[in-house]
Amino acid sequence: MKKSFFTNIFWAVVGLMTIALLFSVLSQSGEPSAHLTVDGLVAKINAGQVEKVTVNGNNLSIVLKGGEKATARKETESGLTETLKNYGVDPKALQAVSLDFEDESGLKFWLGILVPTILPLLIIGVMFWLIFRRSQSGASQAFTFGKANLRLFGAFKDRANFKDVAGLKEAKQELEEVVDFLKNPKKYLEIGARIPRGVLLMGQPGTGKTLLARAVAGEANVPFFHISASEFVEMFVGVGASRTRDAFMTAKKAAPAILFIDEIDAVGRERGAGIGGGHDEREQTLNQILVEMDGFERDTRVIVIAATNRPDILDRALLRPGRFDRRVVLDLPDINDREAILKVHARGKALDKNVDLRRVAVRTPGFSGADLANLMNEAAILAARNNRKLASQQDLLESIEKVILGPERKGRAISEKEKKITAYHEAGHALVAVSLKDADPVQKVSIISRGSAGGYTLKLPFEESRLHTKSQFVADLAMMFGGYASEKMVFGDITTGASNDLKQASELARLLVTKYGMSERLGPLTFGKTEELIFLGKEIGSERNYSEKVAAKIDEEVTGIVERAHQLAKKIINTRKKVLDAIARALIEKETLEHEDFYALLKPFNLKPLSI
Ligand code: ADP
Ligand code: MG
Ligand code: ZN
Repeated sequence: MKKSFFTNIFWAVVGLMTIALLFSVLSQSGEPSAHLTVDGLVAKINAGQVEKVTVNGNNLSIVLKGGEKATARKETESGLTETLKNYGVDPKALQAVSLDFEDESGLKFWLGILVPTILPLLIIGVMFWLIFRRSQSGASQAFTFGKANLRLFGAFKDRANFKDVAGLKEAKQELEEVVDFLKNPKKYLEIGARIPRGVLLMGQPGTGKTLLARAVAGEANVPFFHISASEFVEMFVGVGASRTRDAFMTAKKAAPAILFIDEIDAVGRERGAGIGGGHDEREQTLNQILVEMDGFERDTRVIVIAATNRPDILDRALLRPGRFDRRVVLDLPDINDREAILKVHARGKALDKNVDLRRVAVRTPGFSGADLANLMNEAAILAARNNRKLASQQDLLESIEKVILGPERKGRAISEKEKKITAYHEAGHALVAVSLKDADPVQKVSIISRGSAGGYTLKLPFEESRLHTKSQFVADLAMMFGGYASEKMVFGDITTGASNDLKQASELARLLVTKYGMSERLGPLTFGKTEELIFLGKEIGSERNYSEKVAAKIDEEVTGIVERAHQLAKKIINTRKKVLDAIARALIEKETLEHEDFYALLKPFNLKPLSI
């Protein structure tokens, strides 16, 4: 289908020329023969050399006595004998010649009429066909709007299996059942079980939803059709529903099969909540999906797997029994899963013997499967760029920060002064972090700029927990102010380097008050109802559901929390100035302090962690 337009044109022209050639050869039937003028012919007749003359229109085919052939033409208006007489033929000699008159009929006649009329039509037809084809395969797709842009992943290289999916144990267990059904449907049908029609995979981006769906198809060895719900509604209004129908039809024809609808939240949002009226495009598409799924026969062996990272906004109708009644949650990987994922992606990469994937896993809390895959790849690229054959542990650790913060910008020249400010700023963060019992340990401090950050201090959570205590938040806030407080104390001035810290701190403080109910004065209430702009899928603003008076109180509380955190940071910096200097000096010298170096540096000071 992807043949270029010009190739098509070329073949069309070649085809037409061949046809034309064929016609001209046909109409010339017979071997070439000598051409006679009329008086030449008359002379030959008079000499008694002519056996036979056949008249066909104005063309004369002549057979001479010796069996040779010749042609001639007569005048258009007059008959043959008349013409010959005008040229003084001997009537006696003429009688000896057998004359034959052929009708202008047969193939030749018809071709003569048809070719000039049909050929142009044919050419126009071919042109139209080409334009049509081009628009189908080309970028515009203007003529295919009713067709789903289904992608079939064949049985070859794109195949994934459960062994390619690390971790996600529960999810895999749930899906085993689907695989088993696709493999042995009889077992289930005989016992009268209703087969699951839809499975909804829910998880943050990069947690392996697409991968898992592909793995189900791979395990069951059935075709895998992949479509993104956002493509349903992409170009013309009114095509979503027909695309849906088309996608389901294709999958049903190929049954048993998996139909994977990615990003179903693009069409499956709560209905009637969109802007621009209730009956919009998404809604029709969603309805069509529901209709198609309801229309499955009991033994339709198509299983629809949908993926979303926004299960909270899905229309309830999608979740009714008989639709996406199986729901599988994909969590961010924990430390063991991260190690397993790293192992999967280490396959086929040349790694040094010193590589310890466990340690990489320890350092990557919060990474998704996609982040880890990316990390492995970055490490390989880093090694290759330095002309090394194997990727080392160092490459892997480097890549962690690259994935988090963007590439290192070693090349950026910074002045001595700027370097010193950055060193004290980061030292401030690090010092506050180690000084508070509830803060996470420091993983790394660096004054090498990355992405937009001038320097950075990475923390390492003790254990992965989903719950945060209030003291942890307060410690986090204090740590955010560590850089600011340090700059202010050492240089008596502050730089723009702290602006991002301040922004983060105020956002966090506001969350504590309005969402987590962690303010003493306002108590365990949440404030503000977040409205979502459904169409864009973004929070565009908060509706205030509280009074001016409460608003003022909230502001006071936020200010209070921020101020207390700032004071705490200031106190630590002031009382531990010697330690701050030591860290800053080490940073200026080495630029980066790893976890071990950092804690070795602190050892002599014998710091006692403070509780809040
Ligand atoms: P999602 O669809 O949830 O956004 P993907 O399935 O597209 O995420 O994952 C992106 C990539 O991340 C995958 O192609 C794979 O390389 C990697 N990945 C994610 N999760 C895992 C996992 N559990 N095991 C192995 N690789 C994973
Ligand atoms: Mg995906
Ligand atoms: Zn900072």
